[in-house]
Amino acid sequence: MSETSRERMESWLRYADDLGLSPFFRDRAIVAAVAVATIDVPSGAVISEPMPKPKQTSSSDSARGLSSASAASVAPKAIVPPAKAPFVPAGATLFPIAAAGPSLFEAAERIENDSMERIRGDIGDCTRCKLHEQRHHIVFADGDPKAELVFIGEGPGHDEDMQGVPFVGRAGKLLTQMIEAMGLKRGDVYICNVVKCRPPENRTPEKEEVATCSPFLMRQLDVVRPKVIVALGSCAAQTLLQTTQGISRFRGEWLEFRGTKLMATYHPAYLLRNPAAKSEVWKDLQKVMAVLGLPPRKSAPPA
Ligand code: SF4
Repeated sequence: MSETSRERMESWLRYADDLGLSPFFRDRAIVAAVAVATIDVPSGAVISEPMPKPKQTSSSDSARGLSSASAASVAPKAIVPPAKAPFVPAGATLFPIAAAGPSLFEAAERIENDSMERIRGDIGDCTRCKLHEQRHHIVFADGDPKAELVFIGEGPGHDEDMQGVPFVGRAGKLLTQMIEAMGLKRGDVYICNVVKCRPPENRTPEKEEVATCSPFLMRQLDVVRPKVIVALGSCAAQTLLQTTQGISRFRGEWLEFRGTKLMATYHPAYLLRNPAAKSEVWKDLQKVMAVLGLPPRKSAPPA
């Protein structure tokens, strides 16, 4: 194996280890040595792009209190068994979604004693995908890490990128109104995105970008352990459910992700373009309110 291939292999091992995905290569030196001794990569073959080790967290992130842990300071990760048996809510439709295959996320093991500080520290000043190139801030999350309700969007837009906080632009204001229409405050819920850096021109994140960044989202969800997840828009829903089907095929149905009830509904940005769809979203949120034990409310989000 060439020196470059060895570096790539080691970089991948570091990356996966940072995500807590594989306990079997705990001793990287041993595995790297085994890999070097046993794997013969044909000349010109591409393994993958290396995943650089996270750098220091930026000062702006520190100011938001999200950067206290670093990968180096974190205790070795103990692995606990995978999630409990899937929970199927009463009245759920027989899952209509054709999954692309066994989900990495469904199978991923939970990291014992994981925390938001640890996850943020592992992200560091991330350059793992090309979305880092034009970002101003990594947009980690907002709200209560112990919330019963989590909203997940696609990725930061311009305002979020500039402020380092998710859902603060026009779509974010509508989301806040929706939360308040449910009888909650924004600080009562946890809000995050599939990717943590703004895609240029607000384009949809590419498959590789989602695959690279979303393991951090999975760890966030494992730390919060909410009662209900609301996936806002196709990107979030398709990422969690590992499907390529359009959100309109399963919007409004109770689904499940790692033992947690999941409701997929339209993204607030879609509602800004299609206000008529707000009534559908309000119906979905009323179902969420019922599960959370929130009193019914007549007032829908503003038109
Ligand atoms: Fe890293 Fe995620 Fe940003 Fe890509 S989107 S650079 S994986 S934090």
